[in-house]
Amino acid sequence: MTDNRKGSFRTRAIHAGSEIDPQTGAVVPPIHFASTFRQPGAGQWGDFDYSRSGNPTRSQLESAITSLEGGCNALAFSSGMAAIHCVSMLLSSGDHVIAGCDLYGGAHRLFHQICNRSGVSVTLVDLTDPKSVREALTDHTKLIWAESIGNPRLSIPDLSELATIANEVDARLGIDNTFATPALLRPLELGADIVMHSATKYLGGHSDCLGGTLAVSDPELYEQLYFIQNATGAVLDPMSSFLVSRGLKTLDLRIRAQSETALKLALWLQSHPSIKNVIYPGLASHPQHQRACDTFDAGFGAMVTFELKGSIEQTAMTCEATKLFHLAVSLGAVESLIEQPATMSHASYAEADRQRFGITDGLIRLSVGLESFEDLKADLTQAISKAMT
Ligand SMILES: *Cc1c(COP(=O)(O)O)cnc(C)c1O
Repeated sequence: MTDNRKGSFRTRAIHAGSEIDPQTGAVVPPIHFASTFRQPGAGQWGDFDYSRSGNPTRSQLESAITSLEGGCNALAFSSGMAAIHCVSMLLSSGDHVIAGCDLYGGAHRLFHQICNRSGVSVTLVDLTDPKSVREALTDHTKLIWAESIGNPRLSIPDLSELATIANEVDARLGIDNTFATPALLRPLELGADIVMHSATKYLGGHSDCLGGTLAVSDPELYEQLYFIQNATGAVLDPMSSFLVSRGLKTLDLRIRAQSETALKLALWLQSHPSIKNVIYPGLASHPQHQRACDTFDAGFGAMVTFELKGSIEQTAMTCEATKLFHLAVSLGAVESLIEQPATMSHASYAEADRQRFGITDGLIRLSVGLESFEDLKADLTQAISKAMT
């Protein structure tokens, strides 16, 4: 299948970028570990010359991402943070960024502790409130950075509205689509300029590699990002490129099945006496539930956050008492994970910011995997009762 856009999402996830090997007929393309490629002549360049600048296995993954996000091109990086860092390198001293107040901890650290060194400033606002976004705009705002599903409170901004605002001031809109995946949502279709993934999470899907991607629909912007990536070097290695490509083939199935279990868990947790509240886009009580219904395909995602009625210690104890849910940061894989944002994923936030943004001591974040609902429910039941009695 050479036409990247032909076929349904699920079909493209299997075939896009996955060309039959012309030499052997292998249905799975070989992994190209070569760091350098023989040239036709001095000063003459073939399709590939040096693996930092381009590698066939990486490029197959990039074609697949391009197809699934509906862009014109994509780039694969050594991690999600390397991908966000590449976007941040579009900025210069004096530029201003607006980002979401429930931003991924690593992005929070990058903006506040690395980008600030080169004179880039950041304002965190509630991106679900367009009025606060407009108020935060300055003459120097060059980037609005949003997560299509926020972290850990799973807020869902209106991406079309953010695209309109960004356009008005000639800023770019970059979307971290890690929690949603293109199976649920394709931000480029809603006017975003850049869509980013930590491929470490759902795209890879098996907790066995790190990776990051960017996809864009403007060839000129692609050239700028490619230039930065090639100049700074944080490319994805061939083995990880292969692992992410393999993960993509089951992305649609995984997201559907994991979302279904997540919804069942969220509904059950809602009625649990030790739980104060449950945050899940599939629940009518979620503030942007209607937006999720209108814009998401394939379900409401597989991340569930809830607040325990207990202390920070009881919350930690719950996370430590699960047997199936592994106590770990990261998310998006076939095995379920549990974590306490206040002490783990969002520990890089200042205490005051955690309070302001609702990252409370009792908060627990689940990444729901592919295990059965009954087993996951039983595991949480015993862990919560152990911590709360
Ligand atoms: C994990 C993650 C990142 C960073 O990706 P790495 O692959 O760990 O560098 C960025 N954004 C979100 C939402 C993430 O979950």
